[in-house]
Amino acid sequence: MDVDKTVNQYYEQILKRNAGEPEFHQAVAEVLQSLKYVLHKDEHYAQDGLIERMCEPERQIIFRVPWIDDNGKVQVNRGFRVQFNSVLGPYKGGLRFHPSVNLGIIKFLGFEQIFKNSLTGLPIGGGKGGSDFDPKGRSDHEIMRFCQSFMTELHRHIGKDTDVPAGDIGVGGREIGYLFGQFRRMNNRHESGVLTGKGLNWGGSLVRTEATGYGAVYFVQEMMMAEKERLNGARVIVSGSGNVAIYAMEKAQELGATVVAFSDSSGYVSTPDGVDLELLHQVKEVERGRVSDYAKRIDGVTFHEKGNIWEVEADVALPCATQNELDGESAVILADNGCRYVAEGANMPSTPEAITVFRKRGIHFGPGKAANAGGVATSALEMQQNASRDSWSFEYTDKRLRDIMHRIFRTAQRAAAEFDAEGDYVIGANIAGFRKVADAMLAQGVI
Ligand code: NDP
Repeated sequence: MDVDKTVNQYYEQILKRNAGEPEFHQAVAEVLQSLKYVLHKDEHYAQDGLIERMCEPERQIIFRVPWIDDNGKVQVNRGFRVQFNSVLGPYKGGLRFHPSVNLGIIKFLGFEQIFKNSLTGLPIGGGKGGSDFDPKGRSDHEIMRFCQSFMTELHRHIGKDTDVPAGDIGVGGREIGYLFGQFRRMNNRHESGVLTGKGLNWGGSLVRTEATGYGAVYFVQEMMMAEKERLNGARVIVSGSGNVAIYAMEKAQELGATVVAFSDSSGYVSTPDGVDLELLHQVKEVERGRVSDYAKRIDGVTFHEKGNIWEVEADVALPCATQNELDGESAVILADNGCRYVAEGANMPSTPEAITVFRKRGIHFGPGKAANAGGVATSALEMQQNASRDSWSFEYTDKRLRDIMHRIFRTAQRAAAEFDAEGDYVIGANIAGFRKVADAMLAQGVI
């Protein structure tokens, strides 16, 4: 078999059948590049339309979400749920509420989620959903009415053994609460396992809020330990200031690093002496403010409106905001400034050009599929607790998370070494995630 030609044909077909979805093309292209290594060794993975089936969602649901704003005006948004692959378990993946959301973005996220969820070693399939609703500036009641309308349609497509959504950009504990309330009302059933990221006194799990950020830092630790280096004393840039970013900062500082910058979509704050976490929690989680509000309240801290956060000198960079936020030019700046490690807290934040720079400049790189898998893994632990009507301690759950991140790292490391790509965690994560899903799909027949 001419592997290059076969893979190029797959990709041409994806471009043709999924026009106007650049993020989805980008996510597929990266996985297909890695799969060339597998197909060279194991041609049977090209059988039975396996790869074509894997790139086609099992089901895509698009729906109208009408709701009434505080001025009595009817607003109409679009809702999505892409149920990509359920071969390993119920579809699992977050909901994103952001004005940029469209089908291509939800498909890229759902596609990534298949391999990420496989890597966790837990029985969860891949899916993703969301809406182009913009929660910024909306009142609490508006958010609630939107969530209720969204769930009024979504409820018929989800369930603890079917599809289990969680949070993502713009969807945190408050939104999950409103969504769960509406699900319960419509089904007359307290089905805890239908959503994760719930409140602690109604079925949520300790550590779920912290899990993605903590997990990304555990992954960096693993990469550093493999090089006999330590996070203690390192300078770390964390982009974003949402759920993932806040807890990445918290864990990095707890382990002795100094967070030297963080951001939101309006600019970044440089914090050469580290971040005051108490103030950050207050500004972002209690007041729902901006990073500029943090900068105003503390000396020695500068807010750079629309600046490039990757220009700050650091040893470690953790992109934790959104897709394609770190491009090739920024990767060169990071490398010139001596950065040695990058781990993705966000999904696909590094462009393909940036990843090429990381490889060329010897920067150790943890792709999102592996580095941010702690969030969904802890969601699966929340499902386990719900199924057994139990709740575990913070220490026990955090230990489970740490063990899972260690296993994911080792799995990616081993798969990379097996294919003569030592230290390339992109190739390792893609191959290890793929093989498990592919073997299950072959075993379960052409469906
Ligand atoms: P949040 O909504 O809590 O925070 C998002 C942060 O990113 C905010 O600071 C936001 O700034 C910033 N941001 C969003 N869009 C942009 C943009 N276009 N340009 C610059 N900054 C932007 O989301 P999460 O922290 O939950 O998610 C962050 C990333 O992590 C996403 O890629 C998500 O898919 C990924 N992820 C999340 C998981 C989770 O458990 N929550 C699990 C795995 C991955 P602003 O407020 O100005 O919009």
